[in-house]
Amino acid sequence: MDSQAVRWAMVRKLEAQGVSHPAVLAAMRTVERHRFVDSALANQAYEDTSLPIGLGQTISKPNVVARMCELLCQGSREKLGRVLEIGTGCGYQAAVLSHLAREVYSIERLRGLHDKARENLRGMRLSNLHLLFGDGMLGYPKGAPYAAIIAAAGGNDIPDAWIEQLAVGGRLVAPAVTGSDRQNLVVVDKTATGVVRTVLEAVLFVPLKSGVA
Ligand code: SAH
Repeated sequence: MDSQAVRWAMVRKLEAQGVSHPAVLAAMRTVERHRFVDSALANQAYEDTSLPIGLGQTISKPNVVARMCELLCQGSREKLGRVLEIGTGCGYQAAVLSHLAREVYSIERLRGLHDKARENLRGMRLSNLHLLFGDGMLGYPKGAPYAAIIAAAGGNDIPDAWIEQLAVGGRLVAPAVTGSDRQNLVVVDKTATGVVRTVLEAVLFVPLKSGVA
């Protein structure tokens, strides 16, 4: 598949939708999304749609990946430091993050997807990306504190462990059910004096679950 032209077209659409951070746009141009979905779906890989990746899970829409990455990078032209991603899935967003951060830890609770992500990422030479198998609701204390934490699955609230493992000055972006019983994107900024929580637009992510399977 000669995917570069379609990928660049996808990124032009992202720009038209308001994504403007140069490093995020560059990462979205670089990572070959079609390598992360079944070959039968490869021709849809650059459409702005979520796609099934097996075990009832989905790869997020390009627009949502770009939006969340942009929120993490906001206001800075520097690379992020250490980043924790909860919900590796097929590994696509982890690959995008690896271009935006010095170090990425990505954790997945389903063994089948953890293995699939490893397979998908093989040969991409992303030496700063570390795939972990485990329950991301507990975060990953060994890598803490994190400059940024990003979750691709949404629960009723943001686990305390994530806030604890966030560095002062760090930012967390995650879907969570807010007062209205709807899932919204939530940004948590950790400052020296406490945490500031901002609720953004409604989103639809797969559920955050505890334990491994
Ligand atoms: N970023 C992924 C999106 C995958 S969907 C991608 O680019 O493909 C979200 C993933 O979160 C699913 O694979 C699901 O199994 C995982 N997940 C849900 N709860 C989790 C938890 N507690 N710890 C780790 N992963 C979790």
